[in-house]
Formats: sequence, structure tokens, C-alpha cells
Amino acid sequence: MSAGDKLFGRLLNRHPPPPPESQEAQRVHSFGLQMQLDAAGRVIQMSGPLRHLLSRQNPGTQAPHLLDFLLPQSSLVVEGAPADWQGQTLDLDFYSLNGPPLYLRGWVQPLADTWLLQMLDIGDLLLERRQSRNREQCQVLAMQIAEQLRLCSLTRLPEVLGAQLQSLAQRFQVPCIALALLDEQGQGWQIHQHYAALDAPQLWQNGQRLGTGLDSLSGSAPQHLTLREHPRLQDTFGNTDGFAVPYHDAQGVVAWLLCGFFTAPHHAPDVTERDWLQITAALASPLLERLREHRHHLQLEHLESLQALLGTGWWEVFSDSNEVQLAPSLVTTLNLGTSRLSVQDWLDQVYPADREELRIHLQDLMDSGMPLLSCVRLYRPDDGPEPVWYRLQGQVLGVGKNRRLVGFMLDISDIKNQQQSAADAHARLDNLIASSPAVIYVQRYVEGTLQPVFFSDSLLPLLGWTLADCTPGTLVERVHPDDRPQYFERTRQLLREGSVRARYRLRDNRGDYHWLLDEAKLLRDDLGLPVEAVGLWLDVTDATLATEQVRQSEERYRILVEDSPAMICRYLPDLTLTFGNRPLATYLELAPEQLPGVNLGSWMSAEQRGAFTQRLNRLTPELPVSTAEINLQLPGREHAWWVWSDRGLFDEQGRLLEIQAVGRDNTEVRRSQQQLTQSAKMATLGEMATGLAHEINQPLNVMHMAIVNVLKRLNNGDVQVDYLIDKLTRIDSQVQRAARVVDHMRVFGRRSEIEQQPFNPAQAIEGTLSLLAEDMRGKGVDLRISEIAFEVQVRGYVDQLEQVLINLMVNARDALLEKREKHPGFKPWIALYAERDKQSVRLWVEDNGGGIDPRLLERIFEPFFTTKPVGVGTGLGLSVSYGIVENMGGKLSVRNSTEGARFCIELPIVLAD
Ligand code: ADP
Repeated sequence: MSAGDKLFGRLLNRHPPPPPESQEAQRVHSFGLQMQLDAAGRVIQMSGPLRHLLSRQNPGTQAPHLLDFLLPQSSLVVEGAPADWQGQTLDLDFYSLNGPPLYLRGWVQPLADTWLLQMLDIGDLLLERRQSRNREQCQVLAMQIAEQLRLCSLTRLPEVLGAQLQSLAQRFQVPCIALALLDEQGQGWQIHQHYAALDAPQLWQNGQRLGTGLDSLSGSAPQHLTLREHPRLQDTFGNTDGFAVPYHDAQGVVAWLLCGFFTAPHHAPDVTERDWLQITAALASPLLERLREHRHHLQLEHLESLQALLGTGWWEVFSDSNEVQLAPSLVTTLNLGTSRLSVQDWLDQVYPADREELRIHLQDLMDSGMPLLSCVRLYRPDDGPEPVWYRLQGQVLGVGKNRRLVGFMLDISDIKNQQQSAADAHARLDNLIASSPAVIYVQRYVEGTLQPVFFSDSLLPLLGWTLADCTPGTLVERVHPDDRPQYFERTRQLLREGSVRARYRLRDNRGDYHWLLDEAKLLRDDLGLPVEAVGLWLDVTDATLATEQVRQSEERYRILVEDSPAMICRYLPDLTLTFGNRPLATYLELAPEQLPGVNLGSWMSAEQRGAFTQRLNRLTPELPVSTAEINLQLPGREHAWWVWSDRGLFDEQGRLLEIQAVGRDNTEVRRSQQQLTQSAKMATLGEMATGLAHEINQPLNVMHMAIVNVLKRLNNGDVQVDYLIDKLTRIDSQVQRAARVVDHMRVFGRRSEIEQQPFNPAQAIEGTLSLLAEDMRGKGVDLRISEIAFEVQVRGYVDQLEQVLINLMVNARDALLEKREKHPGFKPWIALYAERDKQSVRLWVEDNGGGIDPRLLERIFEPFFTTKPVGVGTGLGLSVSYGIVENMGGKLSVRNSTEGARFCIELPIVLAD
């Protein structure tokens, strides 16, 4: 124990006061304070240096009492008289001249009849004691703070820190207190949390940035800040003074406790620097630790979620136990159930084909530390039976006892799949190119020429040669001689313009030529100089030949249309021509190019045009074709007859868009037909000559008789006017009768009109009878004529229908007369009657002549078919009649009835418009 300690211990009242020794008492007079007191405690004398510091209350009193020098609380200690105070240590507080009281400790000892009070200054000692008490309290406080901060949950940390700051502020009466930490970048300071007393101004806010001002403080001790000395801290502390306590760890100062409107010596003189440092450390250290823990926790969380997202995770192999530990994320994705398993179990997850390889790699890693890198497939039950790809990487960390085998597994299925599909696509492309009629080639630029350096595999199947067969210059030799100029021009254009598209023929190894479509692009280097040409040959032989065939067939078709003797045209439903070939143009006396736009109807009469359009209107998509004989008035020719075939072209709604027509001039045929009809008619007339003679003879006979009789009377002079009138009237009627017959013959003998006319068939029956009736009756044929009880119109020529009826009746007559020759008693008759329905009228001519041999029925309408002797029959009657009826749109047919032949003329009825 040192002397100082002894004194200290004594002063701290740990030892009893020393025995009163007079010599010693004399010796201490030169320090402290000595007071000589009387028995009542009044001060008789003072000595010692401290006496000059005392201040006396009640200065008026002559002999001051000890109490006059003491602070009130000390007065209590010295109650009574000095004799009572003996034997105890007196701690007395004296008024001092310079403000703070003087803390003195001493004792009384008798000195003759007075008392000597000896006192020493224990101010420092007391301060130290207060400080040490304070320190203890501070330590307790610091421990509590640290404990609170360490133990609370992370979420409550800000709240708990706030509460600690508040209790500190209240304890040391700091108006504003805050803890500043380095910001996240470690660049500047930031208020982490603050507390301000209710009545204190708001100096700080949580999160407030303070800049780097605090760095200007030397950081190892608390700083009393006066703004004069620390102008940089003006922003931090407003305009007030403050106090800042640092906290530093291995990295230096990492936190400051800031106190505003506060200076420690003034407000908390008993709190030492050490205490402040300790309290600050108690706040900052656990706080920083918790924040680091929080950050670490977050990082771990991020890492976990990242691992889960990427399907990745770490692993560690423990070679001593032959076990592996896997990251939780891997355990989940691989559905393992446990994070630590044997290496064998781990390897069992791997697809058998990759397992051995991984085992070897793992062994190498364990044995010789060779880094592991392997891509393997794993079964992952959740993803179906298809294995997923993982990349495994591992390495050795540390040496000796710290040697660890760690690595990670990364799900690379996406990449593998992409690789796979890229490889597939590549293979498909290769395949496609190889099997397609396209060849990809590269030609290198060599001094202005292009030399082949690459062909895709499709070259061989296409042309039968390979790159090796293609020595410089030989390519041109394979180009068809006719196409070489195009090939040279292709190369020049490629070099000039950078791209080209050409078509030429190349010879294959069998000597056949292929039409190739060549598309090439020139690639240049950085300086713009040609490097190589990349191009594509497409075999367009088939297409080219097909095009050529189409062109040829079009040409043939064109020639066919152009040179056809038939008239070919297209026209719109309003009869406007859109196209017509040369023959049509020739007939119409126009140039072929003049035809489009011309209206076909302009060569037709209104009636013909009407009939023509009516026929077109009957065309439908189902029945698009119609053929008719049309009649036109052509320039320079009176009438032309064309056999005309129309085919309608329809749109999707079935509307007629256009008509294609093929026509043939039938005028000549028609004319000869007419001539035929005419000659047949003449023949009929000739045949009827006998009948006609009779027909005319009859009135002549009647007139002759009348005239003979009149002359007889005249000769007798017996002529009465009435008689004369009667005879002359008779003669006149007979003249008229004859005239009628002749008239009719004239009409009948005329050529038919050009255009068909509507007429009543009864007219034709009447005409026929006027020519034949007398003759028939004369020959004993019974004519059974039924009156036509209806009125209808048919279209055609009345004289032609008459001709038909005459033919039929004459044929019937011939058959009847022939029969009568064989059977004299036979009674011949011819019946003529008519009937109608809605569309047509039928005229029947029936006889009882025995009919036609059934074997001949088929043939009787043939021209020149007759059973009559040469010179009698012409065999034309029925054939011409057939043509006439057909021309009228009708039908002539025959049947054998029970007694003879029954002919039927069926004609369409013309409906009145
Ligand atoms: P043609 O009277 O000059 O022989 P057609 O063409 O008028 O020529 O008649 C052809 C043939 O048809 C006749 O030769 C005759 O054999 C037969 N034929 C026509 N009409 C009758 C009829 N009513 N009865 C019997 N045979 C007939």
C-alpha cells in the first residue's frame, strides 16, 4: 500500500482517526485549516492556508462561532459543544469566498482549555467518490442498455433504442440526444435515432444526413463542441453548442452519441469521459451488431430466394462421414426430405448415364482437390419423368483441419433445353438444306474473280458434283453456253452492287441442265473491299419448264382462238363484246381490236335481240350452256344464220358475269335447207297437180255449163234478166273459187319469210284443206275434220306447217288408195283433229291405211327413204316435214294405231305477251 493509498483509505473513513499527538499537530499547522475553539465552539484563532478561502456569515459578531462558517447541512453535524465532537471524523462544508463550498474533513482535540479543530480539504476526494459512484451507476446503466438492445427482437429494436436514448436524456438532462452512424455507403454520417425532450427544439430527425462534418473531430475522446472551434458542425448542431461521444471498433469511429444544448462539464460534472465512452459503446456496439445481424439475415434471405429462383444451392461433402449437406432450397426442389444424406443417396438422384462420371469427378475432388465441374441430369419427381439438367461445381476450401469440400448445383435445364432446341433446329436446318432443292454456297473474292470455297451438302443430290470437282474456272464451264453472258454479268453486278439475282442453267454430272435461281450477296471487310459472296441456288427447273409449258399452251390456245375458223368471243350480259377473234371480226367487217366495246345486239332486230336475251336469262350455274341458231343482219349480207353456243360465267351469288361464246356460220346450210324445203314444196305441188287440176277444172266446168246454158237461152231468145244474173253470179263465185286456189298456190309456192311469225295453226289446216279437200273427196276418201275449238298461236311459217300437213295427208291418201286397190270394198278415211294443253298444241293426222311396218318406223324420217316405186316417191316429204316442225320448236312423231298410221305435230304455244 502506497502512502497515497493510506491517506486515501483514511480519508475515506476506512480507518479510525490517528491518535492526537501534539508534536504532529504542531507540524501540520502549515497546511489545511486549524481553528482554535473555545468550549462553546467559538473560533478564537485560525491558521493554515485554507483560512483565506473561508467566508463568514454574520460578519458583525465579534467572536464568530464555528457554525457561522458552515453550510446549513453541516451545522447539524456539529450540534452541541466541541467536547461532544471528540473522537469522530467531522466532514464539514464551509462557505467559500469563490462560490463552491469547501469540503473539509477533520477532528477536534483538546488543546489546554481550548479545542483545536484540524481540517483538511477533501473536495477532490469527494468528487472522485461521486465520480466513482457515478461510474458504477453508469456501468450498470451501460449493461442494462446493452442487454436491452441485445435481447429485444429485431422488430422492436428501434423502439427499445428510442427508450434507452430517452432514459439517458432524462438522466443526464440532455435536451436533444441522438445516435449517428455511418450511412450505407460508409461515406458520411446519418442520424440513426434521436430523442428530444418535450420542451427542447427539434435539432435532428431520424435518417437525417449529416455529411462528413463529424470526421473533423479527432475520434478517440468525447468532444465538447463550441461552434467557434468547430464551424463545420454548424449544420449538425444548429446554432448551439453540443457534445459528441465517439464509438470506435477495429475500423475506427463507427458511431457518435450526439448531445445538443449540452456541455458535459457544466451539466454533468461528475460523469467522466470514460463513462460517456462506456455508455456510448453500450448503445452503439449492440446496435451495430444487431444491424449487422439484420443485414446478414436479409442477405441470407435474398440468397435463399435467389437460390430457390435459380434452382441452385450449395452443397458440402464431408469426406470423413461420406455424407453431403445440401442447401434447404435444393432439399425442397429435389424433394429429398432431409438436408444431410449419404453421398451414395445423393448420387442416386442422378440419371444413371451421368452417375459414374459424377462419382469419378467427386472422387478426384476428395482425393486430389481437383476442381469439379460437371453437367448431369437429375430426376425431379415434381417435373415429371423427364430428367432436369444441373451444373455441379465444387472446390476445396482451406487446408489441414479446415479443409472443406464445397460447391453448388445450378439448374441449367433452360440453357440445356435451349441448347438442345438450338441443336435440333440446326440439325433440322442442315437437313432441310441438304434435302431441299437449294444449295448454299460461298465464293471467295480472288483478284476480281469469285472462287467457290463452300457448298452445302445439298449440292451432291442436286447437281451430282462436289466442291472438290470445282477447280477454279470449272464452274463457268458448267454453265450452259447460252447462259454464260448472264453468268458473267451476274458476277460483275454482284461485285458492283453488292447483291444480285440471276437465272441460268448449270450442268449436272449426267450432262443434264438445271435451271437455277441464283441469289447472292457480297460481304466486304472494314475497308469496304470484297471478301466473299454468300449465295443460294434454287433449282427452278420444274417451275421454269412449267412456266414454259404454260406459256406454250397459252400460245397454242391463243393461236387456236385466233386462227379458229369458228367465231369465238366473250361478251357481257348486255351483249357488249369484251373479246372477239378474227373470224368474228371478219364477219362483222371490223378489225379484231375494234371488237371490244361493240354491242352484238346492234346486228339483231329488236325481236331477235329479245329472243337472244331471253335465252341468256335462262342460263344458270347448273345449266350454263345453251346452243341456238341465231339470225343476224350483217353488213353486206342480208341474213346470216349462226349456230351459237353460249357458256355463262357466274359469280358466287350465281349472277351472270360474262358469256363465252363459240359460233359457226350456218347460213349456207340454212340456205340449202330452205332450198330443199322449197323443192320439196314444189314436189308436193307437182304431186298435187292432179288434184289442183280438178280443183280448177271444177269451177271451169261449172262456168262452162252456165255459159252453155246462157248461150242456149240467148239463142232461144228466152233470156230473162233474173236468169242471167243468177248464172253470172254463179260464174263469178266459181271464178273466185278458182282465184282462191290459184292465189293459195302462189302463196304456198313462195319462199318462206325470213323471220318466224306467230300464227294460228287453224290457218294452216284451212289452207291445206282448200288445196286437198276436193281431190280427196273425189277419190272417195272420207275426210273427218274436227273443228278446232280453241284459239292458240304458234311461231313459224304458216305455209311450212301447211306443207307438213299436205305431206302427211298425201302420204295417208297414198297408203289408203294402195290398200283399196287390194281390197276394193275398203272404206278409206283420214281424220284431222287437234288438242292442246298449257304449253303445246298437238295436230293429229290419222288414217286407216294399215300403218307402217314397225321395222321401218325408225327410218321413215330419214331423207330419201321411201317405199314407193322409183319416180313416184322422193323420200323427202317426212324428212323435210320433220325439219320444219323442229325448226318451229316442235316435234313430229308417228305411231301405228289399230287401223293405220297416226302422225302427231306437237308445237309450243306462243303465249301472248
Ligand atoms: P315418199 O312419200 O316420197 O315415199 P315420205 O318421206 O313422205 O316419202 O314417206 C316415206 C315413207 O313412209 C313412204 O314411202 C311410206 O312407206 C311411209 N309412209 C308415210 N306415211 C304413211 C302412212 N300414212 N301409212 C303408211 N306408210 C306411210
